[in-house]
Amino acid sequence: MKKLNTLVCIFFVLSFLIVDAACAKSLILHNATFYTMTGSLDVTENMETVSAVYIQGSKIKAVGDDQTILAMRKPGTVVINLEGKTVFPGFIDPHTHLFNGAQPYFDYNTLDRVQAMAVENGITSFGNMYTDQEWLDFILAYADKGRVRNRVFLYLNFNHSCGDVFGNWYEAYAPKEALAHNIWVNGIKIYAERSVCDGFSSRPVFSDDLKENLPEDSLYQNSRLHLSEDELSAVIQRADDLGYQVAIHAMGDLGIETSLLAIASVLEGKPNINRHMILHNSFLRDDMFELYENSDIVALIEPFSRCELNTYLRRGIGDDNIAYYKRWYDLSLRDIHMALDSDWPSYGEQTINPMLKIHAMVTGSNIFTVYSGECDEPIEEQTLEVLQCLKMMTIEAAYALRAEKKIGSIMPGKFADLVVLSQDPMMVDLEDIKNIKVLMTIINGKVEYGEYVNGRLKMYHFCSSKRSCTPSISDSHLRHP
Ligand SMILES: [Zn+2]
Repeated sequence: MKKLNTLVCIFFVLSFLIVDAACAKSLILHNATFYTMTGSLDVTENMETVSAVYIQGSKIKAVGDDQTILAMRKPGTVVINLEGKTVFPGFIDPHTHLFNGAQPYFDYNTLDRVQAMAVENGITSFGNMYTDQEWLDFILAYADKGRVRNRVFLYLNFNHSCGDVFGNWYEAYAPKEALAHNIWVNGIKIYAERSVCDGFSSRPVFSDDLKENLPEDSLYQNSRLHLSEDELSAVIQRADDLGYQVAIHAMGDLGIETSLLAIASVLEGKPNINRHMILHNSFLRDDMFELYENSDIVALIEPFSRCELNTYLRRGIGDDNIAYYKRWYDLSLRDIHMALDSDWPSYGEQTINPMLKIHAMVTGSNIFTVYSGECDEPIEEQTLEVLQCLKMMTIEAAYALRAEKKIGSIMPGKFADLVVLSQDPMMVDLEDIKNIKVLMTIINGKVEYGEYVNGRLKMYHFCSSKRSCTPSISDSHLRHP
């Protein structure tokens, strides 16, 4: 079998003229439940599913039932029987520091390793949310070697977490510009308030209403905004005029409110076409929800953590401010675009795992490995439905990255970014969601990760280019004609 595949690939590589039609790869995945994420997203309704997908090159060509899709098979089409497994659009993590995480003190300490970790977790696209000139040079030197496997959306920093302003250097890189294979500039990152800075923790900025609840010795008594609303508006105005998206770090209610008002003042009622968004959104007052709604501002959110809340309490948010913490359910009741992220590795290495994220969101349990073993009491009040989480990790996350026309759902014309799971997260008990495994990850029609069915299919590299055909197939599920 192995020999045959190798021969077939070599044959097509040598026969240059037909490379695009054959090794140029068509792939059929069938006998599975594909949640297309294209049907009604109402959580009370079932999602649209299909059982088979036909992939040609990097794109999805057709979706449908097994009979229809298998009839499209051509000489050279690879057919994979998924034996009843569950498939979603590849997971999209819009706020990470995956590339920034490639540092010696993490286990995943090279760009190769963080990407391997991403594909092992079914992540096909991510936003890298800290990129100054030095990081950009480092990333591009790597990208020039053609080694970027995920779709990576870079956010170039206007300022540093500590407040130092880098300014408009980002304008040397056009919005949506492809800087290398799989790397795009999406927008700019602005810290409205201090995040982790010189080893000190973040400093959410609270309004007078919430400040009344802070103990007198609270660390947050002296939290200050990095930029006034006018200064922030000026930065957003310039970015918006040039077509950049802005992503603003804000945790405290005043930091978030100032960001919402600054975006609204720039949009002046016009549609938010650049998808300006706010990261974290940790403390929200009732009166703030309509600010998101009125300006269609995207909210990026992370799972709950009782430990994180306990830390806030120790540092002095005050008991009465707990009611404002991570109001994901309340946000979900409004007409607001929300996407689920990990902020990896800020809260521990395991947060990259999409199934742990869903488990935390639907049960309120702690997944934050920086506090592993502590704070087991869940936060049940603001939990969401499994389907809402899946939507926020696929089509809504694509929306947040301004890429929903290309990725985020399984439909003809979109890039073939898919993740195969061991079980259906919508069918198992909530507690069992955390045990679901990623079996296969496909990006651009190429199997980037594939440990499938008792190890019978491992790291099967589909004929991804004219030069590299390196199938390592040990399994009868792969059939060449
Ligand atoms: Zn972050």
